[in-house]
Formats: sequence, structure tokens, C-alpha cells
Amino acid sequence: MKRILPLLIIVLFLSGCGVPKEYSGVSTKMGTVVTMHIYMSGEDITPKVDALLEKLETEELSRKISTSEIGRANANAGKAEVFPLSEPLLEDLKILQQLSEDSGGAFDCTIGPLSDLWNMDELATKDPASLSREVIPTKEEIENALQRVGYDRLVLRENGIVLSEGMVLDLGAAGKGIAGDRVVALLKKENVDAAVISIGGSVVTYGTKPDKSPWQVAITDPFGEKEYAGILTLVGTHFVSTSGDYERFIEVDGVRYHHILDPHTGYPVTNGLKSVTIVCDSGILSDALSTACFVIGEEEGIKLAEKYGAEALFIKEDGSVIMTDGMQAIYKEY
Ligand code: AMP
Ligand code: MG
Repeated sequence: MKRILPLLIIVLFLSGCGVPKEYSGVSTKMGTVVTMHIYMSGEDITPKVDALLEKLETEELSRKISTSEIGRANANAGKAEVFPLSEPLLEDLKILQQLSEDSGGAFDCTIGPLSDLWNMDELATKDPASLSREVIPTKEEIENALQRVGYDRLVLRENGIVLSEGMVLDLGAAGKGIAGDRVVALLKKENVDAAVISIGGSVVTYGTKPDKSPWQVAITDPFGEKEYAGILTLVGTHFVSTSGDYERFIEVDGVRYHHILDPHTGYPVTNGLKSVTIVCDSGILSDALSTACFVIGEEEGIKLAEKYGAEALFIKEDGSVIMTDGMQAIYKEY
């Protein structure tokens, strides 16, 4: 027996048991590019992450898919007394509703009628030369849509929501963050050692890499001049999200119209910001806060981020960069 033991240990070591492998994957999910690097000793779970994102988009979040929960809730606006929602989605809506309140309505997931009117998802993919002034909504159209927007009119009940006639939920500003939270739950369940996963403008870092080096997350240069604006150095699990005027926009007669809307005016936000990056310990909050802070601007945005224990970085049109104290310790300009 004494002789067999060391041999067994050698065999186990050679078979790779307990030695993490790196699995990588790139796919298109939730209308954006997803990249993954997962370090673990078991089987490749990148297909499971892809499947989770696909399911989340098609069965829960997409307002463009009539069979998703949000799609069905919107179709039933003004009809159903209480429209039942799954528990995780209802919990997420409660978090977003609180953020709407805390941001004075700058964040508003009932923005759907305005998002539909501006139709930026589609216009931004068109040939810029084909766009004329007619694609910009009229003042009257915006006023009409505004009448159907308002987080304070979204009623959350114990097992569902009440939407009045004409209301449209749009979780576009929080969906990638919600995805980050769900992915982290899967990574935990699958005993993943470490991972870095980016879903469009949202990135999750999870655990510690086998070589113990910190995670480095690049922040996009919103002016498109440098390879990136700067680098975040992070240790452990974090959620990073960026909202910017460069993500989806059109230009008509020299004016840029982008996808982040001010729920009070109905127009794209124009407050001198190019992008906002948030780092925090919740996916849904990192994503929703980046949008909220973009709308309210750097002064109020820093206060809001601090209230949520999040770090924030604002890049302005004049090139200046403003950030919370905690962000100074983890951000390095490129
Ligand atoms: P993000 O890129 O995360 O900042 O999210 C922007 C998307 O969220 C837009 O494409 C709209 O679908 C939606 N949206 C735009 N403005 C707002 C707002 N003020 N509050 C909540 N969602 C918004
Ligand atoms: Mg967002």
C-alpha cells in the first residue's frame, strides 16, 4: 500500500484533475458581442453561458420578442388586472423602480414609447447618407409618447405588474447587467475558479485568475481616437458597465442623436457627457447606474453612485475626466 500511494498521486496530477483549464468563446447574444474566458477544472461551460443568455433574452427581457415576459406584459398593457411575472424578473424590476426614484426619474424603464419612437436600434444600423430630417420625431410625437412614460405609473404587486394602456417597458438599460448577475450565479453553481465575460458594454470579472494577476478591463475611448480611454485594474468579482453617446446614434444635419433619452424631455441627453463607467458589486446596478448617471450628469451622478456604494467615471465632451475617489485607485488613463 505504501508504494501505491505516491503513484496514485502522480497519476491524478498527470490526468489534470484540479488543474484549471482556460475555455474561451465569442458569440452574438442580446444583440451584442459576448466574449468569455473561463478558468475551471471541469468541462467547458461556455455553451451553457450562451444558452443562459439566449434564454434570458428570448424568454424574459426582450421587448421585441412577443413571447418573452416583457413582450407579453407590454402586449397586455391596459388589459390585465395584474400581469404575472417570474420572481427573478419581478425582483429586478423592484431594484430598477427604486433607482428610478433615487435618480428623480432620470432612469425609467417605462421609456419604451420614446425608445420605439426614436427607433435608434434600427436607425443606427442604416447607411448614414440615407437618413434625413424626417427620421427625427416631431415635438408633437414626443409629447404624445411622453404621456405614456413614467416609472411612478408602473405598479408592482406581489406576483406581477400593472401596466396602463399604452405603456411599454424597455429593459435595454439594465438587461446586460441582469445577464451579468445571472451568469455569475451559473459560474458559482459550476464551481468555476475565475472568469471574465463581456456582454457589449458590460463586463463581469469573477474570482482570481490561476496566475493570480489582477483583471484588466479597458474602457472604450468615446472619441474613437485612442485604442481605449483607460484601464481598470480589478481584483476579484466586479461588474463594470459603460453607457456612451457613441454606442447607438445617428447624425442628421450635423447634430448627433443618441440612444440615451431624458425621460423628462423625451430627447437624447445633451449635458456635455460622452460616457459614464460604473464599477460595483451588482450587475443590474452597474448597468442601470451607468445609464442613470449619464442622464443626471457628473455632479448628481457621483452622489447617486456613492449612495449605491459604486465607483463612477465620467468622460466629458471637452476631454476632461471626473471620477469618484475609489475610481482613482483603480483607473489609469491610456
Ligand atoms: P445603456 O446603453 O445601458 O445606457 O442603455 C440604453 C438603452 O436603454 C436605450 O437603448 C433604451 O432602450 C433605454 N433607455 C434610454 N434612455 C433611458 C433612460 N433614461 N432610462 C432607462 N432606459 C433608457
Ligand atoms: Mg445601462
